[in-house]
Amino acid sequence: MQAPPSVRCLREAHGHVFQHGRSLGMIDASSFDGGDALLAAFRERAAGVRTDGAAPLLLGDKARPEAWARTPGGGKWPTLEGFDRATAGAAALCWCFDYHQLFANSAALALAGIDQHTPDPVGGRIERDADGRPTGVLLEKAALMLWHAMPEPDESERTSLLRAATHDLEHVHAFREVHDMKAQPWLGPALAELDDAGELRASYHLWPLMEDLEASHASCARWSRERVRLAGGKIFVDGTLNSRTAWMLAPYADGPPEHPAGMAMMSPGAIEDAVRLCDALGLPLAAHAIGDGAVRAVLDAIERVRPRTPGFRIEHCELIDPADVPRFAELSVTASVQPCHLLPDMEALRAGVPDRLGRVLPIRELLDSGARVIFGSDVPIVRPHPGDSIQAGVHRRREGMNASAAIAPEQAISEDEAWACFDAGA
Ligand SMILES: [Zn+2]
Repeated sequence: MQAPPSVRCLREAHGHVFQHGRSLGMIDASSFDGGDALLAAFRERAAGVRTDGAAPLLLGDKARPEAWARTPGGGKWPTLEGFDRATAGAAALCWCFDYHQLFANSAALALAGIDQHTPDPVGGRIERDADGRPTGVLLEKAALMLWHAMPEPDESERTSLLRAATHDLEHVHAFREVHDMKAQPWLGPALAELDDAGELRASYHLWPLMEDLEASHASCARWSRERVRLAGGKIFVDGTLNSRTAWMLAPYADGPPEHPAGMAMMSPGAIEDAVRLCDALGLPLAAHAIGDGAVRAVLDAIERVRPRTPGFRIEHCELIDPADVPRFAELSVTASVQPCHLLPDMEALRAGVPDRLGRVLPIRELLDSGARVIFGSDVPIVRPHPGDSIQAGVHRRREGMNASAAIAPEQAISEDEAWACFDAGA
């Protein structure tokens, strides 16, 4: 789906540019229907890798094992032995679509030093078989522990991955403004170098994590360009719907006993501190808040501080309580939403919040209340096609589904309204 001519400046308001570059080179597991397809793709990739001395690292992402049948080994992913055979000694791993779970082979586990004696890290889990040996499936902090032990791209590889990402966003998807919502400290200087070489067509707005913000603010005079600029700070107030860690005002229908209503990743005081620090630097804050509890906590903090800097945002806003909808316009807070996630998440939403489906992405109410609403995709969690968010915003269901399957159809918006949320020139 192409943007209509009325859209003057197509904007991706929530992406992760470098990770998109890495993801473009990974095996795309989104269309696989089970573990056998995954093994076949890794077998083919392993066979194509040159054995030039450097141990190759085989990567995949976008897997949705929760939709697969169980394998003879007992789990949704293939067995570790099967994965090892397919990858012929190379270290290999495949991320789940939401980057909160991964499946690693024995060579990758060994590189990270994970074996039957490794305890689960705080906030993570190493899945084990009946004998206590890792199965290769790692969740949350355990997945990150392995990921951070894998060899990082060096500087020249980093530049070529960035080039691949900017090319895809600008030339394949025609974006002219891209917001990076967890910008690494090196990203600004690296993009400035591409811009100086005349390689950028879009402008890049960088939102580093709070812990990197002051350093980025101090250095940005050196790398700020017309097309590359420091935009604000980023915090994470809760987790994700898929892992039932999004912070809700009421418990999930299928929430785990340890956190029945999700998890608050920051205290009210810490959110308020972040709001104040950004405001003192003259920059806005973007707060990741998926559950209605997290959304309220951010609005409360902004209301207490009343920052003078414009442009404060809440990212995702997957559920919003009716009482909080008018507060976006009242407090001049932008709702930065990614309607495209509704499409793959319909079943998970029905299972997790069946009593509050009418509160899912209440875009109709936000627009009617006068709130500023902007759209993005959260690439590489999903592909950055604006058409997916247009489909979700207008029809509230996947293409080809019966109208009765729509989630909160009363929150539907028109196609023109949806495109306007992608238009930085609107
Ligand atoms: Zn994101």
